[in-house]
Amino acid sequence: MSVRRSIPSNTKLRLFSESGGHCQHPRCLKPLFPVDMGGDRHIAEMAHVIPHGETGPRHEQRPSEEFEADSFENLILLCPTCHTIIDKAPDSYPRSMLLDWKRNHLITLVHSQGIICYEERKQARYAVIAAMGENKAIWKEFAPCDGANFEFDPESETANAWSQRMRSVILPNHYRIQAIISKNQCHLTVEEQEIFAQYQEHVRGLTERHVCCVSGIAIRYPQDMDGIFA
Ligand SMILES: [Zn+2]
Ligand SMILES: [Zn+2]
Repeated sequence: MSVRRSIPSNTKLRLFSESGGHCQHPRCLKPLFPVDMGGDRHIAEMAHVIPHGETGPRHEQRPSEEFEADSFENLILLCPTCHTIIDKAPDSYPRSMLLDWKRNHLITLVHSQGIICYEERKQARYAVIAAMGENKAIWKEFAPCDGANFEFDPESETANAWSQRMRSVILPNHYRIQAIISKNQCHLTVEEQEIFAQYQEHVRGLTERHVCCVSGIAIRYPQDMDGIFA
């Protein structure tokens, strides 16, 4: 099935966020923003679970109720290999299976990454600071130091390198940090819940800008995040 260009950016944004930057096939989970892919593009494909037309993979499973092919509910984010496989063998990959993959994706990903609910706060802290540390290191090395110039020349090499790192490492790390914190919400204080909410909004803005190329308003990284679970 073809990849439509008409997918609304809100839908794209939700798909990318919920994929955590990984193929949603549970036995694949390949990173969709490969570090070693020198270019500035991701390899993610938005696959239609049910196609637009009367033909195409799984078209006979079209639900009888009102149906929007380009909706979030009908799309799944896959690597090109998995997209090809599910479209070539639709009988082996029915709609219900694909929707299950998607529904369970973050749990599957969290398991594959060894994310658990810890007994103690400080264990949760160790888990998040590792990912945070990597982001900080990349930030130091690659972030455009002159914010103003960066704004004026988004085509510059610095801006490209930065965007590439953002998609291949920083955002997946952010999604991972979010997964760890969500899994350990029982250890969050009320203040930390508020900080976490701001942090999620910050990451949403980054995703909007660097993945969906929408220049939305991203709120700043809440500095108090550095002390989460401390
Ligand atoms: Zn397709
Ligand atoms: Zn895949």
